[in-house]
Amino acid sequence: MKTFIACLGTETNTFSPIPTGEETFAETMLYHGDATSHEPSLFSGPLHVWRRAAELEQRKVVESLAAFAQPAGVTIRHVYEKFRDEILDDLRAAMPVEVVLINMHGAMVAEGYDDCEGDLLACIREIVGPDVIIGAELDLHCHISTAMMDNANVIVTFKEYPHIDPQERAQELFDICSAAARGSVRPRMATFDLNMINSYRTPMEPMKSFVARMQSLEGHNGVLSVSMSHCFPYGDVADVGAKMLVVTDNDTEQAQQVAQQLGQEIWDLREAIAAPRVTIDEALDLATKAPPGSVVLADVADNAGGGAPSDSTFVLQRLIETNTTSVLSGLYWDPVAVRFCLEAGEGSTLQLRIGGKCGPTSGTPVDLEVTVRGTLRNGTQSFGPSTNLTGDIVWVQSSNGIDLVLNATRTQVFNPDVFTQLGIDLGTYRIIVVKSTQHFYAGFEPIAAAIYYVSGPGTLTSDYGSIPFTKRTQPYWPKVEDPGHMQS
Ligand SMILES: [Zn+2]
Repeated sequence: MKTFIACLGTETNTFSPIPTGEETFAETMLYHGDATSHEPSLFSGPLHVWRRAAELEQRKVVESLAAFAQPAGVTIRHVYEKFRDEILDDLRAAMPVEVVLINMHGAMVAEGYDDCEGDLLACIREIVGPDVIIGAELDLHCHISTAMMDNANVIVTFKEYPHIDPQERAQELFDICSAAARGSVRPRMATFDLNMINSYRTPMEPMKSFVARMQSLEGHNGVLSVSMSHCFPYGDVADVGAKMLVVTDNDTEQAQQVAQQLGQEIWDLREAIAAPRVTIDEALDLATKAPPGSVVLADVADNAGGGAPSDSTFVLQRLIETNTTSVLSGLYWDPVAVRFCLEAGEGSTLQLRIGGKCGPTSGTPVDLEVTVRGTLRNGTQSFGPSTNLTGDIVWVQSSNGIDLVLNATRTQVFNPDVFTQLGIDLGTYRIIVVKSTQHFYAGFEPIAAAIYYVSGPGTLTSDYGSIPFTKRTQPYWPKVEDPGHMQS
């Protein structure tokens, strides 16, 4: 019997000024049925796992679309519909199938579709009927909806932020769905709405222990899988907000109980979990007091991975105003400036207008005299086992002691190799500013004397209570102290 696999997703920041169309998918990942013939990326990794696992069980694999777009604003309607329909056409042609495994994000919004994943799962269910097992893997920054729960048999989300575990979760989902197809388990799911919006960094306590606690329940007493959807705070959709999700073997009531129990535990930790954030000036002050070495400052508000433009200049302006030197900062998404630098060539000195171009949340452009120190066509950076594209990338040095790395394909900073591939020696800088919220952490933590999360102006506010939602109707923490759903 056949296993059908596909991928369609993006994380939609409905407040972002950047439209998501076919170009963004093509630039990030777009394969029409042959993703597993190429190197695994962050987004295609699960498909590789599923193909390998299914073939080990002598199952035939039918592979459809694999499309993923760097997070940005709302997806253009006809682009979503075209990709969805390609998957559905492939599925119809592949029928009968036994298992459908689909890798999605869980926070994709298109024009006219606030819940793309729910829509896609409902369309898949309509084709395959009630008996085929449908498994969905989601990023933990997802909004779990009723339509998703009604149409999937099993949903598994990443457990780790930074996302170091998509392939492990893919195996987890495969194992449950495969067992379900054999009839040896009957997956039942339940969610518990936490009514909270927060940032949960899983390498740190108390989240580290909470993830271990979730995993300790799996495989015992009929609990098959435990997920926590952290939610994506910048999606103006009815389901925005964190949820616990539990899958059990044929016991919905138990799934509900475990989800609620874990929900209470995470609710009790809400204050302890909240990431400490500092202002730009506080961060620069802390950097002067940190131990010797490189201090890493995360420009959280301009993280391309959350749909921000990655060209904001608020931190850069402040660095210049305070005469701060020995600074490296990136990645600035500025294809025009990159083009100028490539034209000028390494060693050239030129007047360069940098950043501040995408909208009010980008600030204003900064004009600097810079020397081009390094250039690279089609750069890459690693993230866990995957290789990710940066587009053309250049290293420029300003006359006032600030080095910047600009690139042509919008992406956040994942790993130090994004800088070192240009010949940059990170150890020579006192301050390294990375435009990222948390994915930089695994790569930079080993080389950082200290790390501070900077909550400056930009697209991604850290003040979750102030996000102007129009579609969520239920109160949530921290907008209100007590949404009234938990024991105090
Ligand atoms: Zn995520």
